[in-house]
Amino acid sequence: MSDLVTAGAPGLQAVLWDMDGTLLESEELWDIGVRELSLWLGGPMSEETRAATIGASTPGALGIVFDSLGLERSPEALARARTWLYARMATMFADGLPWRPGARDALALVRSLGLRSALVTNTERELGDVALDTLGREHFDHSVCGDEVPAGKPDPAPYLRAAELLGVDPQRCLAVEDSPTGAASAEAAGCSVLVVPSLIEVPAGPRRTFRDTLVGLTAEDLHSLHALVTV
Ligand SMILES: [Mg+2]
Repeated sequence: MSDLVTAGAPGLQAVLWDMDGTLLESEELWDIGVRELSLWLGGPMSEETRAATIGASTPGALGIVFDSLGLERSPEALARARTWLYARMATMFADGLPWRPGARDALALVRSLGLRSALVTNTERELGDVALDTLGREHFDHSVCGDEVPAGKPDPAPYLRAAELLGVDPQRCLAVEDSPTGAASAEAAGCSVLVVPSLIEVPAGPRRTFRDTLVGLTAEDLHSLHALVTV
């Protein structure tokens, strides 16, 4: 098997994983939390607004919701909203985080191949650590959370930071993403991107390839998906 991998492996050194909606079904929990937050703030928000928050950083999502409801973005009000949302999400995360189809096997596959691996999420460390209890810390060399970089996705900073921590050129990394925001971040960092959409469609892009699911992902798939956009 290792011979096959080497033969089809031009350049791939690491896989960088988005969390919400890619590894875990947590994007559906965020859907509940953000909708409830909008009601708590005097909403509801529109479906268009909700879609714009998918994959966004916490400050980014709060800004979108506040603007859509015509609320002033005072630091105090934003901090209260963040506290409310993270408390609600912590309750849901603690109740159990289902895996996305094929995600657990895909993580194990990357580890078995000896590739480097990092979690790259816009979710802040407080909740990211709860999720890592489900994901298994042994699957990752590093994790980068939204509150640990100067700007969240779609800025390239989270992916650039992950590549730096791994000591790998971003162009030798394959990112796995489910949202337009996340795919844009990884692409801007120079990674190839495997897009597995969850709640919303993701547009095509120069460094993107698409699959419907992670189920059945093979070593050859990983290397050829990466090679498709880097050769
Ligand atoms: Mg996501």
